[in-house]
Amino acid sequence: MSPTSGKGLKAKFYGVRGSIPCPGQATSVYGGNTSCVQILGGPEIIVLDGGTGIRELGLELIRQRKALRVHLLLTHTHWDHIQGFPFFSPIYFPGNEIIVYGPRALEKSLEEALMVQMQYAYFPVRGVELAAKIRFMELDEETFKIGDIEFTTKSMNHPIRVLAYRFTDGHSTGVYTGDNEPYYDVLDTKGAKSDTSSQRRREFIKECNDRVAEFIRGCHLLIADSQYTDEEYESKRGWGHSSIGYVLDVAARSEVKKVVLFHHEPTHDDKVLARIEKQAVARARSLSKSMRVTMAREGRTYPV
Ligand SMILES: [Zn+2]
Ligand SMILES: [Zn+2]
Repeated sequence: MSPTSGKGLKAKFYGVRGSIPCPGQATSVYGGNTSCVQILGGPEIIVLDGGTGIRELGLELIRQRKALRVHLLLTHTHWDHIQGFPFFSPIYFPGNEIIVYGPRALEKSLEEALMVQMQYAYFPVRGVELAAKIRFMELDEETFKIGDIEFTTKSMNHPIRVLAYRFTDGHSTGVYTGDNEPYYDVLDTKGAKSDTSSQRRREFIKECNDRVAEFIRGCHLLIADSQYTDEEYESKRGWGHSSIGYVLDVAARSEVKKVVLFHHEPTHDDKVLARIEKQAVARARSLSKSMRVTMAREGRTYPV
């Protein structure tokens, strides 16, 4: 498998779950591995997030039997986005270079937050023993290039700093949100009086949500955290994830061409996801004539 195979950018899904892997017969259609997506179509090997799906990608890469340079772009260092890293085979071969990008994690550097899982208390190999050269690039909101693909980052709403990635080769554009919940007013309780301060808060929250809508505007492929149904979201507010209804609404308003629903709730088996996907397709049709929507499946590749 070569990253340059075929024309144009593509996204290949190695892990589509949120929170925790859930392998088994009941999840074999959509997949049970946690977040990992490869961007194909440029000269460089580019990977979004290092959930358990990255293990399979690592095995494919080392079959190329040549020195590898891998750009691993992390949205954040929550477990389900990094837990595949110790099993990513290219890190054990000398001559390979892994460049890890991502935000700082609260009081920890990106390196400390990723490598804490490679200590003897948790894993038999320590980070300092890895044969490949590992470099870390801490990111803020910024624009940079990897090969001929330009990336722009944007902070999202989650209990820890998350960076979304917008990427383009000049022809097509994709956005990968990472974990994200729409901004809302935590002080807004039913029956509370509307005063100047609550009005100001509302305006600020609207601005924050508008910035997210702008960030995804007009993209060809939006890979979005849409962990919950609208009904489930009501009891999961503040957990840091989006409902499918929110994702489709903001995508339609922002004239997104295609939405890939991603970071599936681990309790949703194939039957549940198939039902939700059907509902999502109908809802997308009612919101926009041209916007398409699909549920991410492990092993699938989608053009950007
Ligand atoms: Zn997650
Ligand atoms: Zn998270």
